[in-house]
This record gives sequence, C-alpha cells and structure tokens, in this order.
Amino acid sequence: MAQNLKKKMDHTSRSERLEAYQPVSGMVVPRFAGISTFMRLPHIAPTQAPGDIDIALLGIPFDGATTNRPGTRLGPRQVREASSLMRMVNYGTLVAPYDLCVCADVGDVPVNPVDVPDTLRRIEAEIAYLHQGGVTPLSIGGDHIVSYPILRALGTEHPLGLIHVDAHSDTGDTYFGGQKLTHGTPFRRAIEDGVLDPKRMVQIGIRGTMYSADERDWALDQGIRIIDMEEVADKGIPYAIDEARRIVGSAPTYFTFDIDSIDPAFAPGTGTPEIGGFTSREALQLVRGFRHLNLVGADMVEVSPPLDQSGGTALVGASIAFELLCLLAEARSERPAGGRLNIVG
Ligand code: MN
Ligand code: MN
Repeated sequence: MAQNLKKKMDHTSRSERLEAYQPVSGMVVPRFAGISTFMRLPHIAPTQAPGDIDIALLGIPFDGATTNRPGTRLGPRQVREASSLMRMVNYGTLVAPYDLCVCADVGDVPVNPVDVPDTLRRIEAEIAYLHQGGVTPLSIGGDHIVSYPILRALGTEHPLGLIHVDAHSDTGDTYFGGQKLTHGTPFRRAIEDGVLDPKRMVQIGIRGTMYSADERDWALDQGIRIIDMEEVADKGIPYAIDEARRIVGSAPTYFTFDIDSIDPAFAPGTGTPEIGGFTSREALQLVRGFRHLNLVGADMVEVSPPLDQSGGTALVGASIAFELLCLLAEARSERPAGGRLNIVG
C-alpha cells in the first residue's frame, strides 16, 4: 500500500494529497467495518511520511517502564479500534483536521519489550526522523516514559514548553534503588537533558498521594507551574487554560495527556488511577482551550486495555487523541509558510 501511495504521491499537488489521505468514509464503509487504523486514516510506512504528510499518528506499544499495574503496551491497538468511532469534524470547535493537514497512520514504533534504554533509542530515532522530515508527531502510548525520548527528539534545537495534563507530576528521581527511566520520571530526565524549559512548563490536574513531597518540591524549585486539581476545582477550567497559555507563550510547545488525569469513573483502564479527576466533559473543555498555540507535537498515554474490559477508557483516549489532532492540525495550518518547522529535510 505504501508503495502504491509513493508512486501516486510523487506527482501530486498538496490538494491532491489532502484528498488522497482522507479517512475511510463511514458513508461508504460502515465505521464498524474494515481494518483498524487511527481515525480510519491510510496506513503508510514512516519512511514514506516526509514530503507526503504533515501529521503522523503513531502507536508506541510499550509498558516496560511501568512501576505499578501494566497493560499499556496493548493501548495503541485498542485505541485504533475505538478511534473508528471518530467522525471528521470537531463539534466544539468546528475544526476539520483532514481538510487542514495531510494525516496518516505510520504504524507502531518497533519497541523492545524487554529493554527500556533500547526502546527509548528506537522511539527517539523515529520521532527525530519524522521531525527532521517536517512531520508533526501525534503518539499514542504506551506508558508515560515514551514522552521522554519524544521530547529529546523534538527539543534539540530549542528547549520546549510543555502542557502536561496528568494526575501525577512524573518528576520523580529514581525508583527501586536507582532506576532513572520509569513512567514516573520522564519530565525530570527531559529537564536534566535541557530539552524541556521548566519555566515554560505547566502541569494541570495533579492530585493523589505521593511517595515523597520531594516530587512536588523539586518541580516547584525548577520553576514548573503546577495547577493542581485543588486549584482547578477552586478557580475553574477557564482560569487553568488562561494561566497555562500565559506560561507556555508563543514559543514551540509540546502537549502530553495522561489518561489518568480523567476520573476513574470515566477512564478506569489505567495503571495508577486517582479519584477526584476531570470528567470526560471537562477534559474536552480543557483541551479545546489550547487552540492557536505553537504546538510541535502531542501524545496521549497510559490507556491499559486489560484494566477496562468494557473498552470505554480506549474510547476516551481516542476522543482525546482526536482533540489533540485538531489542535495540531489547526496550529500547523497557521504556521507561516517556510517556517523552520515546515522545512522538509
Ligand atoms: Mn503520567
Ligand atoms: Mn499519571
């Protein structure tokens, strides 16, 4: 299929590519039918993406850095299936992502399920390849460690800002006697590596118990703005949006969404659920507040299908992924032509 698309795409204009890369129409093939890809988009090889597409949806089926209940390695497959329920136009914002950007499913990163550092190298290499080819990544996890190699790949030219929606800060230092690469530590590692600017980083929805107050103190010492769930409940979601937009500003920013930010009543299928979270409705309102930012990529992580046999958590995850896609497509379409991030190298 990729080969056929290659032959076709070599001689086609951007408008023809937009037309060719539409999701399978639910009016032609019913949405319950066909092979599952993210949002029913065409599936191509990652090597096919630079020059052909603007936004790559990819799965990262890895849970080897999970410290508690596992299962997120099965997330991409179930989210692909649930995403067949997504239609083409966002009701809340009227954004039609497939009219703005050429999008495709580039499959899963070939992870090594028994080797964390090797897996992180593979993720970083694939994201760097897409990024250098001018392609914006939207990744579906996997546990939250996957954000760390993504940030390393995207933040090499300039430390990134970050919008981080989560029940947990994920800025711990080590687990189990010195393990530095876990799903509770990715943002500490990214700050240490200089790919993330803590002063342009905002965490929203943090709550629940901690191993130690150091997790929070370290983050605050770095200059990270934590809008914890207590503050969201007190001041409201519009306040959280305004404050977060002020923190990240107009410079390049990444968006990471941990499904456990949502209350386990709506999204129980995750390894470390915390009560008192966002409703799925509030999550939509929150994500839709981040239009027109300089977004360079996004991820949705921590859906664990074995922990929710109903599949409902994957539907929530797929719906959030669609919202993130709308943000990325709109942001990318607003970038000045020839802007550095548009260069195909
Ligand atoms: Mn997390
Ligand atoms: Mn979390």
